[in-house]
This record gives sequence, C-alpha cells and structure tokens, in this order.
Amino acid sequence: MFGGTVVPVYPVRPEVLQLQPYIPGKPIAEVQREFGVTEVIKLASNENPLGPSPLAVQAIGQAAGQVHIYPEATGRDLREALAAHVGLPADWLMVGNGSDELLRLLAASYVRPGDRVVVPGCSFPNYRTVSALFGAAVAEVPLVAESMDLGEMARQAPGARVIFLCRPNNPTGGVFPEDVFHHFMAAVPPETLVLIDEAYHEFDESEFDSLGLLRTFPNLIVTRTFSKAYGLAGLRVGYGMARPEIWQPCYRVREPFSVNVPAQAAALAALQDSAHLTATVENNRKGKRFLAQLCESMGLQYVPSQANFVLIDLGRPAGPVFEAMLRQGVIVRPMGGAGRPNAIRVTVGTPRELLRFAAALHESLS
Ligand code: PMP
Repeated sequence: MFGGTVVPVYPVRPEVLQLQPYIPGKPIAEVQREFGVTEVIKLASNENPLGPSPLAVQAIGQAAGQVHIYPEATGRDLREALAAHVGLPADWLMVGNGSDELLRLLAASYVRPGDRVVVPGCSFPNYRTVSALFGAAVAEVPLVAESMDLGEMARQAPGARVIFLCRPNNPTGGVFPEDVFHHFMAAVPPETLVLIDEAYHEFDESEFDSLGLLRTFPNLIVTRTFSKAYGLAGLRVGYGMARPEIWQPCYRVREPFSVNVPAQAAALAALQDSAHLTATVENNRKGKRFLAQLCESMGLQYVPSQANFVLIDLGRPAGPVFEAMLRQGVIVRPMGGAGRPNAIRVTVGTPRELLRFAAALHESLS
C-alpha cells in the first residue's frame, strides 16, 4: 500500500508519480515476526547504539505534562541554545522535524518547475526526492574513487538552482577536503544555493570548518540533526544554518508546529549532555576500528568512513547475504538502491552488537 505503484484514481501530480518512495531500514519488530527470532539488532539506519542521552529522557518526562500546549513555533529556546553552541546568531538557525523537513522546505521555497538541481550519485536519496517533487530536472554527478566529484559538480553549477552535498557522505562515509570545497565555491555562481548535509558531522574527525564558511559564502546552507550522534531519531529534530534571508521564505511554507514539545525539550537537554556525546563518538571510533580489522581479515573491501557506518563490498550480490543475516537477527542495509548491488552498509554498534554482526557475516558468507 505504501510503496507500490500509484493507481491514479484521482489525478495525481506528475511530479509525484515519478517519485520513488523512501525505503527505510527494516524494523526490528518486522524481523522478529517474519523470521521468528527474538534477539534482533538493527545496524541499518545509523542510529545511536548507546540510546538517547539520559538527560533527554528526563526532559521528555518533564515535557510530557506540557503537551496540551502547542510548542513555541520556531523552537526559540532550542535555536538560542544551538546558536550559542555553534557561535552563530539565533536567526541563522532554523529547526525542523528532522533535517529531512529542512531539505523539503528549501526545495519548496526555491525550486521551480524545470530548474536544474545537482546531486551527488550514491548519496542520500532525499535530495532527488524533494527536488523532483517541485518539478526540478535533477542532474546526478557520479562519485569518483568513492569521492564527490566537486570539479564536475562545479562545471554543472551555472544555471543550477541548488547543489546538494553530503559530508560525510551517506552511504560511503567519505568526505571532500576543505581546499577542494573552496575551489568549488569559487566556481559556483552566487545565485546557486549550495547545501552541505552534515547529518553525521559529530563523528567527522577531518578538517572542515563549515560554519566559518557560512560567513564567507551567502549562498551556503548547512544542515545537521539530532537523529544520529544525539540519539533522538524517533523524535525528529534537525536544524539548518544559513543567513536569515535564506530561511525567511521557508517560514512561510513550514507547518507552524513541526517540532513538538517533547522533541524541543529533549534536543535542548541532549545538547547539554557532552558526556553522552563523547561516549557516543568514542564508541564509534573503536567500532570503526573493529569493522576495518574485520573487513581486512575477511579480505573484504570497505570505504574508510568519517561517519557512524561503514560501506562494505561483499564481492558478490548482497541481497542473499542480507537475507541470511536477517535470519540470524542482524539487520544491515543492502545498497542496491544506491547502485551498489554488492554492498551493505553497517551502522557502528556497541562492541556486543558488532561481535554479533561479525559472527552473522561470517556465517552468511560461508
Ligand atoms: N541526511 C542524511 C545524509 C541522512 O542519512 C539522514 C537520515 N538517514 C538525513 C539527512 C535525515 O535525517 P533526519 O531527518 O532524521 O534529521
């Protein structure tokens, strides 16, 4: 019902008929039901394996008694806390129902039918979806050696309305160097918006001062989220940073109360919990080392990652391996949809989860 062909009983906008529904990571309950396994781990959606911050959980409890009141529409307290956190004025920040909402608001505000939008190949599919929804002609620039080809994207920039970049890139985990980005921005016309999606920013240990760049380039937008390192994927809070004039039209388009009361409270609390963030990043660093060693010991190719997941090439079709792993209660993400039929993307879990992943991978490949 949700994913199949649309039967147009009533006239559906042609832009909508072209869209591919998003395929999320398989839910734990579905695997328990389908395969009869009780102990299921999900390493498929890059969620925080340590769970939410205890301070956020406490804040949700306190906020529960306030849910009869509409939230402050623009998330003022959260924006101010974020502004202090990132060192920008509060009106440079906009909060959304996940960073997904901000991508859609930007497309709704800026993309006109027939506009060209440039997206990277093998990246987050939502850039294409939100652009196509508003009638864009989407040009996809393939990765070269697992990296975004910023040279080619810059060549395609003249006349483009928006260029989407993802750093670290989902699903490869790769990043582009800051000097390459400077060259790219120098070649992009000032009327073309450039969005850097930094959903995995907190895990990134490479040099890249995107917030400094925001002050240099008025056409730059950076989005981040509480769904990954901050462990609040189920609540839906993301934020974007750009000059206030970029956000002004988005405020006309947005649902006024898109970030709910517990979500705002939890995000505020999570932002204060630096110990939880540090533990999350440390667990991730160790987990990536484990996965790298595992791949090397099994002779599997993988992409070095600055995020909280690793793309692994199994050297054979990933579909049957994914299925075999499900039967063992381990959910990963097959990457056929991103044009990598031999690859899986695995989220860095806890040490215990990664040992289970390793055992299931060995078993499924043997
Ligand atoms: N960008 C990227 C690269 C992502 O991987 C995701 C989530 N999978 C998002 C944006 C959306 O995140 P959210 O809406 O939860 O903030």
